[in-house]
Amino acid sequence: MNQLANFIDGVSVAPTDGQYLDVTNPATGDVMAQVPASTAEDVDRAVLSAAAAFPSWRATPVTERVQFLFHFKTLLEDSLDDLARTISGECGKTYAESSGELRRGIENVEVACGMPSLMQGYNNEDVARGIDEHLFRQPLGVVAAITPFNFPGMIPLWFLPYAIAAGNCFILKPSEKTPATGQRLVELLQQTDLPRGVVQLVHGELAAGEALIRHRQVRAISFVGSTAVAKSVYREAAANNKRVQCQGGAKNPLIVLPDADLESTTAIAAESAFGCAGQRCLAASLAITVGAATRSFTESICEAARTRRVGYGLDEGVEMGPVVSRQSRERITELIGSSQSAGARLAVDGRDKPVANYERGFFVSPTVFDNVDPTSELARTELFGPVLGLIAVSDLEEAIDFVNSGDYGNMACLFTRSGAAARKFRYAAHCGNLGINVGVAAPMAFFPFSGARHSFFGDLHAQGRHAVEFYTETKVVVERWP
Ligand code: NAD
Repeated sequence: MNQLANFIDGVSVAPTDGQYLDVTNPATGDVMAQVPASTAEDVDRAVLSAAAAFPSWRATPVTERVQFLFHFKTLLEDSLDDLARTISGECGKTYAESSGELRRGIENVEVACGMPSLMQGYNNEDVARGIDEHLFRQPLGVVAAITPFNFPGMIPLWFLPYAIAAGNCFILKPSEKTPATGQRLVELLQQTDLPRGVVQLVHGELAAGEALIRHRQVRAISFVGSTAVAKSVYREAAANNKRVQCQGGAKNPLIVLPDADLESTTAIAAESAFGCAGQRCLAASLAITVGAATRSFTESICEAARTRRVGYGLDEGVEMGPVVSRQSRERITELIGSSQSAGARLAVDGRDKPVANYERGFFVSPTVFDNVDPTSELARTELFGPVLGLIAVSDLEEAIDFVNSGDYGNMACLFTRSGAAARKFRYAAHCGNLGINVGVAAPMAFFPFSGARHSFFGDLHAQGRHAVEFYTETKVVVERWP
């Protein structure tokens, strides 16, 4: 049995109270590893080591700090295949999806290598006679990220490179469901001879997460996960006087206008709804069809759902893997059942479709509902599975009103050939990420990952050039030399 370890003060260590959790391969149902269920004591050790490392790391010139990231980027490229297989094994994604998320993660390392320019301050001479004023950006100290199961390679890399390039010491608490990828990332980073204590890894579930949020010496928390937890982390971290940004859940609609190209729209929408088994925070879970688009799109998306090849992500030709756990599958299949009872028409039923050779895997095949009531639980709740609900409306205004009425505001997409419709949508739709003829509107690393309403809690973003605002504090110096 592969027993994972925390990485604290430069060494791999077991959790202090010796407790572990099972990590299951969702395609085979086999336990593939055990992960430390760390406690507040483990977190405290990591924070103290990080705090001890901070003065020297902060004093290391930024040009030297980013050299570790240049090296890390090369190691990530060289290990891409191995990392992608690790992600597919513990998360269930296809190999293409796993390597794709790593590419997006590596982009963040590349952008963070620009920290010597990104963290420059500014100044004015003679703000008053003989007085000059300077703004400096300085690192915060010990910062931490708590990350979800669904992008175990990319999401830690949304934060780690910027945090350390800016001169902070960083603690990662990856998801207990997909912890091996985070561990592999930290192992690779150590091959760069990064000084001891600059990056620490503490595995575990909520006990470890809560201990980070409460620790007096942790200055900033980045959280990505479900909205219920994001809200409570945001509240608690703010109450503990920390800088905090929390990225939460989603219920993302696509709008299909009658003039959209049916073939490409269907392919893009199917990839958005069923890719990564619907477990993306940018997965489409609703399609709002306008007027004449309803009939043609319903037929074509149902066909795409029926024909998508489901299986183990590391097997040839597989287009969609399992969901992450037995509990996830139960939650999704229960909501499919209750939505059907509530009146939505189940056009494609993905339940009870075992995959040959993987009968113990947590598979749900692509599922489509049409005639979904816009006020129903199915239309309002995040399912986080390969389930698409179709809602018919009469015009674009009605579709945008629906987008803006949702509890979540992570993403909305429009499919059309009309520039005027696209402009109206871009102007009026209130979501952090918008796609126009794009189904997964994931920002590149040099743009921030945004969100509205219950999808994002915070004032500052922690990616791209905005990362410097999150991971540094400003100091203004007014000086006179008589
Ligand atoms: P989750 O909320 O269950 O867990 C996320 C992380 O928080 C894990 O590391 C978990 O151990 C930890 N955690 C759980 N309870 C905690 C607590 N009380 N205090 C501190 N830490 C705690 O989420 P998940 O199931 O791993 O991920 C799926 C969710 O993440 C979905 O809702 C999805 O939409 C969301 N997500 C959002 C984004 C985004 O950018 N907005 C990106 C990816 C995933």
